[in-house]
Amino acid sequence: MSSCIFCKIVAGQIPAAVVLETSDAVAFRDINAQAPHHYLVIPRKHVEAIKDLEDADQALAGALLLAARDVARQQGLDSYRLVVNTGPDAGQTVFHIHVHVLGGRGFAWPPG
Ligand code: AMP
Repeated sequence: MSSCIFCKIVAGQIPAAVVLETSDAVAFRDINAQAPHHYLVIPRKHVEAIKDLEDADQALAGALLLAARDVARQQGLDSYRLVVNTGPDAGQTVFHIHVHVLGGRGFAWPPG
């Protein structure tokens, strides 16, 4: 989608600190890191949010989780948190699915 900032990162039109690329996904450092390790894993395909995934996107959904696993492995993280904010009330601000991979510190539960 031409106005989507994460589509522009996928297309190489704006810079990002990319740490992993697969046929389905791209992972890069979050520009406003909330932990010593903070990456975003996004699908190459534009899908606004988890609630917009279709049954036919099963492989894509799995590919995102596996890419998140691989980013964590590559970065030497054994304990980490994955977050997928879905909708404004949950804190989603960029409407292109992204899995946050957060690590390098402890995390509280329940989340805020
Ligand atoms: P969310 O609030 O779950 O939608 O997360 C959006 C995330 O995207 C935030 O953590 C932002 O810091 C991050 N972000 C926004 N623009 C960029 C960018 N150009 N490069 C890297 N991260 C970004």
